Amino acid sequence: MKILTSMLAEETLVIDNDISSSILDLKEPHLKGSSSIRIHLTAYKDEQTVYVYGTLKTSILIQCGRCCNWFEYPIEVPHFKFQLNPPLPVEIDLTERIREDILLALPMIGFCGPNVANGCFGKDLFNEQNKEKSIHGEGIWKVLEKIKKR
Ligand SMILES: [Zn+2]
Repeated sequence: MKILTSMLAEETLVIDNDISSSILDLKEPHLKGSSSIRIHLTAYKDEQTVYVYGTLKTSILIQCGRCCNWFEYPIEVPHFKFQLNPPLPVEIDLTERIREDILLALPMIGFCGPNVANGCFGKDLFNEQNKEKSIHGEGIWKVLEKIKKR
């Protein structure tokens, strides 16, 4: 997501765009990028400083930390803000900032909430067969055993 600095003046530039969720570069096994990222940004240049603000919206597929079900987790960054002081580059690349703000809005571990269809919210999982093996906390007990042995 790049803006040409020469396109910015004191007049504002409005950017309404969908960008691929592949920019998130999700590496965690319990997260998958799903829908594209909807960006609505306003950019302008005041003297020599560039300001960008707006909203980011997307959804990420998250594996529930309780039942291992994959569900869509909506993410909204309502107050995206970016400021760039001189010297200004020819092109301003917002990709990394967009990525960071969305990753910060993600939960460490997601759980099916009351709005997740067929989710585990309020269900007793004790007698249910889990079809997928949890990828959360692999090796977590080994770490604890090491602490215990000290
Ligand atoms: Zn669940």
